[in-house]
Amino acid sequence: MTIAIVGIGLIGGSLAITLKENGFAQKVIGVDIRPDNIDKALRRRLIDEERSLKEAIAESDIIILSTPVDAMLYILPGILDRVEKQIVIDVGSTKERLLDKVKDHPNRGRYVATHPMAGTEYSGPEAAVPNLFEGKCTVLVDVDDSDEDAVQVTRDLFNSIPMRQVELDRVSHDVHTAYVSHISHISSFALALTVLEKEQDEDRIFELASGGFSSTVRLAKSSPDMWIPIFRQNRDNVLDVLDEHINQLARFRSLLIKKDFETFYKLIEESNQIRKILSS
Ligand code: NAP
Repeated sequence: MTIAIVGIGLIGGSLAITLKENGFAQKVIGVDIRPDNIDKALRRRLIDEERSLKEAIAESDIIILSTPVDAMLYILPGILDRVEKQIVIDVGSTKERLLDKVKDHPNRGRYVATHPMAGTEYSGPEAAVPNLFEGKCTVLVDVDDSDEDAVQVTRDLFNSIPMRQVELDRVSHDVHTAYVSHISHISSFALALTVLEKEQDEDRIFELASGGFSSTVRLAKSSPDMWIPIFRQNRDNVLDVLDEHINQLARFRSLLIKKDFETFYKLIEESNQIRKILSS
């Protein structure tokens, strides 16, 4: 198969490496807004060739859209205008706005909405890595609105990695990702700002930073170019979760003020239940 990747960054580039290595793709074509990204992707052999978007659509069997989610809102309808038999897959982190945008498109059936639940805090083609997705989960969204053959090929693609697959509708997808992904990023951004504000001496932070601190602020290294469009599109769900998170922080604050360490102990024990969900 010939696969075009539109937006050859962390996710697009990692998919490119994986699908070439496992033989699912015989050729990968790269499309990106920035020539510098294409140069890096060619040098790293993430892609075989560069094309314009129009050429890439015409020459590919599958077009994978992996730009930030705001750009997808105008790129996806333009791709669907041009496809015939090709399959279009997006890997964006939010789904409701995008799927609403193309719901009445005559070629809607050729498009399959997906969200591979894997990533790192780095971005761009230099951040692409093999094995990013292996053993992780992909969400297939609103599959009933896609043509059967398009869904089957998409399943084959993710099975080739291999990734587990779950199906959700677009509203549930955005609610659940607000909980499992979007809030943890806000929490990490806020924690990083808290520590930077309180600890002006950056060398000290560096010297003292231990495993716990590093792992909780890791996500704060993530790119605003990718995250602001996500928060813009999933604002209402993220606000709901953020309100709950602020309530929880306020509970801990109040217990500290009251020196109620007995209840504090119980809350930590309650939070330990997360082990049931995350075994490692
Ligand atoms: P990334 O590393 O920044 O890659 C995005 C690439 O798209 C960049 O090379 C960017 O160029 C390019 N781009 C931006 N606008 C474009 C346009 N109009 N046309 C063509 N290329 C364009 O971001 P990423 O982390 O791979 O994320 C890609 C998508 O995957 C996003 O929709 C994100 O929500 C989703 N996703 C991310 C993760 C994660 O953990 N990172 C996980 C799952 C899904 P510039 O360098 O100029 O910006």
